[in-house]
Amino acid sequence: MTYVCEGMECAVLPDVCLIASVKSAGFSRTLFGGRTSQLVKCEMNKGPANSISSYAEEILAASSNAGNVFGDSAELLQKVLDTIPQRVFWKDRNMVYLGCNQLFANDAGLKCPEEIVGKTDFELPWDKSEAEFFRTCDKRIMETNKAEIEIVEPQLTASGQRTWLETNKVPLHDDTGLVIGILGTYHDITKQKIAERTLKQTNEELENRVRVRTRELRFLAQHDSLTGLVNRSCFVEKLNKAIDEKERFALLFVDLDQFKPINDKEGHDAGDHVLKQVAQILLDEVGRNDVAGRFGGDEFVILLRGTTDEPTAREVCGRLQERFAVDVELHDRHQYVSASLGVLFSNPKVYTTADTMVRDADIAMYVAKESGIGKYCIYDDVILKQVKRKRQIENEILPGLRNREFSLHYQPIMNLSDQSLSGVEALVRWHHPQLGMVPPLDFIPIAERTGIIVDLGDFILQQACERMQIWSSDIPDCRESLSINVNFSSIQVAEPEFLSKFLSIVSDAGLSPRSIKLEITESVLLNDRKQTIEVLEQLRSEGFSIVLDDFGTGYSSLSYLDSLPINTVKIDRSFVQNIESPDGSQAIVRMILALAKTLEMSVVAEGVETQGQADRLLEMGCDQVQGYFYGKPMDAEAATRFIAQHEF
Ligand code: C2E
Ligand code: CA
Ligand code: CA
Repeated sequence: MTYVCEGMECAVLPDVCLIASVKSAGFSRTLFGGRTSQLVKCEMNKGPANSISSYAEEILAASSNAGNVFGDSAELLQKVLDTIPQRVFWKDRNMVYLGCNQLFANDAGLKCPEEIVGKTDFELPWDKSEAEFFRTCDKRIMETNKAEIEIVEPQLTASGQRTWLETNKVPLHDDTGLVIGILGTYHDITKQKIAERTLKQTNEELENRVRVRTRELRFLAQHDSLTGLVNRSCFVEKLNKAIDEKERFALLFVDLDQFKPINDKEGHDAGDHVLKQVAQILLDEVGRNDVAGRFGGDEFVILLRGTTDEPTAREVCGRLQERFAVDVELHDRHQYVSASLGVLFSNPKVYTTADTMVRDADIAMYVAKESGIGKYCIYDDVILKQVKRKRQIENEILPGLRNREFSLHYQPIMNLSDQSLSGVEALVRWHHPQLGMVPPLDFIPIAERTGIIVDLGDFILQQACERMQIWSSDIPDCRESLSINVNFSSIQVAEPEFLSKFLSIVSDAGLSPRSIKLEITESVLLNDRKQTIEVLEQLRSEGFSIVLDDFGTGYSSLSYLDSLPINTVKIDRSFVQNIESPDGSQAIVRMILALAKTLEMSVVAEGVETQGQADRLLEMGCDQVQGYFYGKPMDAEAATRFIAQHEF
């Protein structure tokens, strides 16, 4: 009897196949080989069958050498099977082993192939689950009558080793084509499997590392390394995307106030520590879909998606300010931090790029900063106009000074008791060719910030001196009785050459020190106090008078008045304004007057607008007054007329 084993890859092995024969009553334990053309047909099957092919070739060679394939060559064939580097086994329909070669016997922990006969996989050393797996696989092959090639399966060998096998299993048929068993061959691919697994692991590890590093690099490219917030370029990208997608949102520009002193005094590590805490506050206070970024230095930006109304924006600003003020610490102590915030709402008709939005949010922030620390400002057209004007002023003060667009106006200062003229205050005016008359409060602070006040101040003093000189020579008694008050900003007084320059300008005009009074505010004392006092002392010793302007508005404390070289105190307009109401500023004015008297200083009340105010001040014993009630600041011509008409 011969049995065809199906499933051979005939493309690999064109005319060889295996057959099994029955030796006695049972199923064969011997395999024979031969040429298909002579023996049986070989059906094609999928996949290469190298292992089967190789031992089939051996069989063929052996059979050729033996001459008679169908002779009593079972022994020879067993030897052949024992020499090939494959495990070979075969089973009957009930999955009972009928035979195997020596290599398989070794795996099964048997001494010789004969011992396998009659055993099932459940009696061999492999796991129960493996035995189950083999049985399922064998059954399937016999039921479907289809070979299974290169099945990879695990096996626990007799020595307890876990191995991996690559198995080919083909169904065996009797003459009638009935499936009567199964033939299997396999070889150990454990090494290959281990190598594959190692390679796979290494690959996975590498891929993982590449993934992690790529993620890190992407994060670094998009984030600020100190705070972890998105950086400028990433923020701009996100902002542009929001604009392109016509999203509705608010853009916040955040700039810390007075961060530089922290950095300078406490060191950069301290500065970094503050910035990190500020960044954390921003992250805490914005929603999941919002974006908080660091623009550089102490500037931050926030994109608040869906925030389109002022109340909500104000609420966010308020919350941020509150947390900045309360939640920052430095060297284990609370550190007060504040920020100026600029808010700008999206507007697809106006804003089509991130740059223009950032520019205007920055402008709003700038306006907030100008109005003090810890303020916020919501951008609108009015603000834009204000800022444009400010920038124009800033750019045009110096050219204006060269073009002689500045002049002085003069406001009379009266002796209250006899209504005689005591002097005038010189107040600068700017006749701008486009903006018209620009009030000093609009350009003096800018001139101070930019340092132009020094040149402008020299011009003012020269003008005042020239004017005083003209009056002295033109109007009788002026030289002895009239004085001119000139305002000096703290920046001027702090200049090292201030004193020498001042003295030379005054003496060049041929004026005596008694005709010039210097008006300063308490802010000059914020500079080098000792040096400032020295300068003032020297001026006084030269015969000049010093007037402390705007008294009561700044850092004033009545108690330190006596330590200052001051001749006159000017009570600020704000106190004079409500001096008539019973619970107004009467008490304060009375106190200033009393103190000044004991310190032998004279007092000028400024901003007197009514007869009532004048009466009250007279009653309280005030020496001098200045205000619209007596005369507004007027140009040189009008002032000359005013002086000529008044007694000294
Ligand atoms: P200031 O030195 O306190 O000047 C008094 C200001 O009050 C002047 O405003 C004056 O016009 C105004 N004033 C006088 N009487 C009255 C009144 O009865 N009612 C009201 N409502 N206002 C009155 P101005 O000229 O606009 O000057 C404003 C400020 O600009 C000055 O305040 C001073 O701080 C600064 N400034 C003006 N001229 C100069 C200057 O030549 N040099 C410097 N450094 N600062 C100047
Ligand atoms: Ca003044
Ligand atoms: Ca004043």
